[in-house]
Amino acid sequence: MPLPSIQPRLPHAEPMHPADPDSLFAMAVGSVNAACEVMNTAPFVKSILSQPKNELIVNFPVMLDDGSYRLFKGYRIQHNNILGPYKGGVRYHPDVSLDDVKALAVWMTMKCALMRLPFGGAKGGVSVDAKVLSPTELMRLTRRFTTALGQNIGPDFDIPAPDVGTNSQIMDWMMDTYLNTQSNGARQAMQHVVTGKSLTCGGSEGREKATGQGICFVLLELLSQFGLTPEKLRFSLLGFGNVGSYAATILEDCGAKLVAVLDQSGAIVCNDGIKAHDLAAYAANHGGVRGYRAGGAKEIDHHGFYATPVDVFIPAALERMVDEHVAGSLNCRIVAEGGNGPVTPQGASVLARRNIALLPAILCNAGGVTVSYLEWVQNKAGVHWGADRVDDELRHIMVAAASRVSAVSRQYGVDLATAAFGAAVEHIAASYKQRGIFP
Ligand code: GLU
Repeated sequence: MPLPSIQPRLPHAEPMHPADPDSLFAMAVGSVNAACEVMNTAPFVKSILSQPKNELIVNFPVMLDDGSYRLFKGYRIQHNNILGPYKGGVRYHPDVSLDDVKALAVWMTMKCALMRLPFGGAKGGVSVDAKVLSPTELMRLTRRFTTALGQNIGPDFDIPAPDVGTNSQIMDWMMDTYLNTQSNGARQAMQHVVTGKSLTCGGSEGREKATGQGICFVLLELLSQFGLTPEKLRFSLLGFGNVGSYAATILEDCGAKLVAVLDQSGAIVCNDGIKAHDLAAYAANHGGVRGYRAGGAKEIDHHGFYATPVDVFIPAALERMVDEHVAGSLNCRIVAEGGNGPVTPQGASVLARRNIALLPAILCNAGGVTVSYLEWVQNKAGVHWGADRVDDELRHIMVAAASRVSAVSRQYGVDLATAAFGAAVEHIAASYKQRGIFP
């Protein structure tokens, strides 16, 4: 029997998408591809961006407090590093999967490029319900995961940070584990291997509120295009975790009114406005917004929540929560993505048809990675900036990115979401063009 002939595959003939139409990775690459079309990006760049550079999966055992052992699965996806070291958060959540982490890594590449940070994109995660682990179990899991990642992370190679289900304590443990497993004498100078650390361990002022603060800076910059002002702004929030609660309190401080909130515990509404600072304290004590009644707030069902009239709706929870049905119920002018990938492609089409503007996460929620960058810079220089300096730097970077997006939108006649990806891709493609492909 003749041997089958081996056809060399050109990069552009590689499969671009997984077959699953619900794949989050396909959704992320779809946005990149659409932007490449608009920007007339070289096909080889489009091809490179259609797959991560490295995909690492680790399975590692952890001893639980009762002396038994459990095996956990962890991921680190390094999507692209043409602009600098890989950068992106680590997620602890039961639904963490390879496909989702790949998508989140693509968005990190786009986010850092749009912000013009000297970083590429990565994401990691462990499939775990962190809420059922004790603090000591969480620490052992974190240390064992960090050890399993080994030299695949590093202060100038791949820099993890917090994401859903992780916080500064977990970043401190990651940093400590990394430093203790380095053999060279310079290890104490490597604390910038992780960002989002506590202030005690080299973290930056303003990192915890950074994503919420960034949403606020973007909205303040773009609102006038919609004939809106912060003082008259009414907004609702899907999700009231770190991003949602800080976005709410900071927008309230700018004069805006929080009208409705839906989180995992339930939904509340108050036409006269919910006091965001008060609600944040309540939610921290009660595990969610449910039951909050101050100022005339009342319970509402999910449909009523989505249909509440507001200027801006901020989905600040998990992916895929705004599908075509939710998008069809919304009663707002602007959807500002606080979480990563909350609006499905079908949801986005419905929003476009209904003339609701979509401000994508790679712009809106880039405040987190931007202050991570500022933390990395401070660590490298051995300095600690005050909160005002950090806020100023963040505002400067976010406002520049928002105006970059507006300019691309005007120049190419595309919506703001496509323009954001376009402005990111343009920067990456310019770097590839200048540097060429090794060898
Ligand atoms: N996890 C955040 C994000 O999705 C922050 C990442 C970072 O600080 O590196 O943007």
